[in-house]
Amino acid sequence: MEYKADALLLRSVNWGESDKIVTLLTADGKVGAAMKGVRKAGAKLNFASQPFCFAEYVLVTRGNRRTVIEASLHDGFYGLRTDLMRLYAAASVTEVCDAFALEEMPCGPLLVAAVEALESIETENGEPMSAVLAFFLRALAFAGYPVSAGNCPHCGKKIVGRCHFDMDNGAFGCSDCAEGVLASEVTYRAVRYFLARRDETKDGALMSEEAPSFDGIIRAIRLLRTYIAHQTECDLRATDDLLALV
Ligand SMILES: [Zn+2]
Repeated sequence: MEYKADALLLRSVNWGESDKIVTLLTADGKVGAAMKGVRKAGAKLNFASQPFCFAEYVLVTRGNRRTVIEASLHDGFYGLRTDLMRLYAAASVTEVCDAFALEEMPCGPLLVAAVEALESIETENGEPMSAVLAFFLRALAFAGYPVSAGNCPHCGKKIVGRCHFDMDNGAFGCSDCAEGVLASEVTYRAVRYFLARRDETKDGALMSEEAPSFDGIIRAIRLLRTYIAHQTECDLRATDDLLALV
């Protein structure tokens, strides 16, 4: 059977003399497929076996084996390769997709969020770290692990100063109730800001949060990295590499 799917390449490994096995994120889930001869000089489909390739792939299924036979490029995100921070930021987006997506799981919203994140990471004036944080929050909500940064869920008080983050339910709580790991106020503020910004795009609500500090954004990425690893038991090496740069 032959079929077409818009897909983002999440990772690839070399196979045999000149083949690759690629892992693709499609709206219908994660798909593994062989790409024959793509490591040969001048291979026509080489572009479609590269990291971050977003393309329409044509796949052939025989039994439980899939092969990519054709691809037409939507975006190769080549600008991501211009600096290390952008490259690692993009790799942290694809590794989180890989951690959350499963075969035959509807993944349309995750695919859209990932492509939008890569677009904004690639933008010359863009802020890669902000794009990563915004993407993590969207991906967590998609995967059923939404983060909440409202008032303390235990006592209902407004959260000020040092607080806690509960790795089991993804919620910030106040220091009096002290459930979960310690988190700083700048971390809480950064998460709140990006959650509000997402809702603003959704509902057109007015933005009332103060823009977070760079330090807050980095701390929030570090916290969510731990939360994602806690929920998925996946190693998030690209995110660790990204955090090691700052
Ligand atoms: Zn409380």
